[in-house]
Amino acid sequence: MPELPDVELYRRRLELGALSRPIARVEVADPRSLQHLTPADLAVRLAGARLAATRRHGKHLFAALSGGGWLTFHFGMNGVLQCLDGGEAVPRYLKVRVVFEDGGTVVFADKRVLGRVGLTADVDAFVREAGLGPDALDDGFEAAALAAALARRRVAVKAVLMDQAVTAGIGNIYADEILFQARLHPLTVAATLDLGAARELHGAMRRALGEAIACGAGSEQYLERLPAYCLLPQRHRGGHCPRCTARLGTFKLGGRTGYACARCQPRGD
Ligand SMILES: [Zn+2]
Repeated sequence: MPELPDVELYRRRLELGALSRPIARVEVADPRSLQHLTPADLAVRLAGARLAATRRHGKHLFAALSGGGWLTFHFGMNGVLQCLDGGEAVPRYLKVRVVFEDGGTVVFADKRVLGRVGLTADVDAFVREAGLGPDALDDGFEAAALAAALARRRVAVKAVLMDQAVTAGIGNIYADEILFQARLHPLTVAATLDLGAARELHGAMRRALGEAIACGAGSEQYLERLPAYCLLPQRHRGGHCPRCTARLGTFKLGGRTGYACARCQPRGD
């Protein structure tokens, strides 16, 4: 599932490859991928406009339209955003394609149709209405705020990290990575963590997400590029702890499978 690092890389693709080019038309292959919007509505708003700027909040991506308003993208479980300038294969499960006058395109593909493309007048209002907390990489989201959120909750620390109302952007995969780097067992009760542990967790959150972006999250050589101490390359059945080489354990939380090292991430609660 695309999480903060993946969506940040999609944002950079748009920023580098799609701004300022006049849009000729938009093609909607599957109207189910549109959020409260008809293909005709989208066509009217996009034709002749340009993408003027990009923003990201958590797992949501926004592109400003030169005529006002913003295009919104959420990627669900399998959504992908690409800028194609001709010659490249069109991805499978293509749902929405923005075609520029010069022939280049932005394509949104989504195998399971859980992602959405939409329009909003105001990104801040969108974020508020979606109930999203501060972005996990927002400098204003300090360790004290994370500590306060943890102290209030008698649930697994992993569930708090993944709660988009606490902080936006972290899903199942990066929650495991962050908790591994912080040496905390994901099922530790959040409220039992002291301020020192919360600070450690906050630092690991910043580090793990920053590294994932720097190493090109989701790209072909991504796993090889990650530092050797990262959990992610071993996060599969039969994987081993990169720190102590023990076999990783699995656990379920909210129906999703997680990975942790019982030796390096003992439960302290
Ligand atoms: Zn270990």
